[in-house]
Amino acid sequence: MRGTWLLLVLVAAASAERLFIGDQVLRVNVESEEQIKLLQELETQEEWELDFWLSPVSSELPVDIRVPRSAVSAVTEFLRTHNIPYSVLINDLQELLDEEKTEMFENQMMERSSRSFNFGAYHRLETIYSWMDTLVAQYPKLVTKMEIGRSYENRPMYVLKFSTGGNKRPAVWMDTGIHSREWVSQATGVWTANKIASDFGTDASLTSLLNTMDIYMLLLANPDGYAYTHSNDRMWRKTRSKNSGSVCRGVDPNRNWDAGFGGPGASRNPCSDSYHGPSAHSEIEVKNVVNLIKNHGNFKSFISVHAYSQLLMYPYGYNCKDVSLQPELHSVGKAAVQKLTSLYGTQYKVGSICKIIYQASGGSIDWSYNVGIKYSYAFELRDTGRYGFILPANQIIPTATETWLALKHIMEYVRDHPY
Ligand SMILES: [Zn+2]
Repeated sequence: MRGTWLLLVLVAAASAERLFIGDQVLRVNVESEEQIKLLQELETQEEWELDFWLSPVSSELPVDIRVPRSAVSAVTEFLRTHNIPYSVLINDLQELLDEEKTEMFENQMMERSSRSFNFGAYHRLETIYSWMDTLVAQYPKLVTKMEIGRSYENRPMYVLKFSTGGNKRPAVWMDTGIHSREWVSQATGVWTANKIASDFGTDASLTSLLNTMDIYMLLLANPDGYAYTHSNDRMWRKTRSKNSGSVCRGVDPNRNWDAGFGGPGASRNPCSDSYHGPSAHSEIEVKNVVNLIKNHGNFKSFISVHAYSQLLMYPYGYNCKDVSLQPELHSVGKAAVQKLTSLYGTQYKVGSICKIIYQASGGSIDWSYNVGIKYSYAFELRDTGRYGFILPANQIIPTATETWLALKHIMEYVRDHPY
């Protein structure tokens, strides 16, 4: 739609929004340890302002890099000089972002005129927050909305609690969107919350689960970052807190937990996308969750949802040693993924964070496991890199639907294995 497009251009020109015209996303297929070392050097080099969507870690895994237009020729020449094979995943990132924005805008118009909420679309923070009220109004006996605290920029952090009664029943925790640019995560959270509410009473297994357990969902775990991905920079991953002594803002909220804090796989550079922050739990968004979980004291499962790569992972990230529950976590994870795959054939890998992707310290599920929440898992949802963080909205519902099968399997297992 040309009219819409023109309007969007005008809106973008008037705003502070960051543009990615001519930025490319390259997939680099590393073939040797030596090549990994070269890419790791590129990752710490700041001159080209590269954004690693997937970091160089082993020759078995691809490396995806967003390369600003100004650096495309230098980077491709570098790769060719070192005989490192690569392909272009995204030729012009801004084109994809424009499509995404147009779709969001058209959907907004449609929702406004039909007074409905489309689960197959991406939404802004305010829309998701007001949808939560609709859900609570629709299912008042099951769903409540609790504010667990405020973000750095003073946005409320809301948890949806699904409960049929009782005092601090065994509970399952799920958070989405701790990394703000991983939009399919938050969208999957919204769909899942609606699924739980609408299936209660008709799905016998889910109903029995909710008759003994509670489910807590934090849909926007990084509200400031999420708002910022809509208003200023679609590629923003971190929180928005100020870092003293640096012009760069934000901390990677999934390197900020008190679990191997500050160890390998996190950066001490405030300008890095994996900056761990000045101290464990320095980020108020992390601290709010820590407080809730500790005060509650009866969480049995902790599930954190990211994108992308199609992985189901368990602790640890901060070292590669097997946790004592490794065999059980692995077999539950395998069975969960089998269910997920059965729907559309989407392939997932299962393993510990450290072994399946890379050593990463200060992660949420390492913390939850160490405070005694046995069934701690992290998902990396679709895709495997075709669109990366810019997963088209028409994949939201298929992604959420298949993921639900895995989530349900984990929750049922937790219900059937009390400890
Ligand atoms: Zn993530």
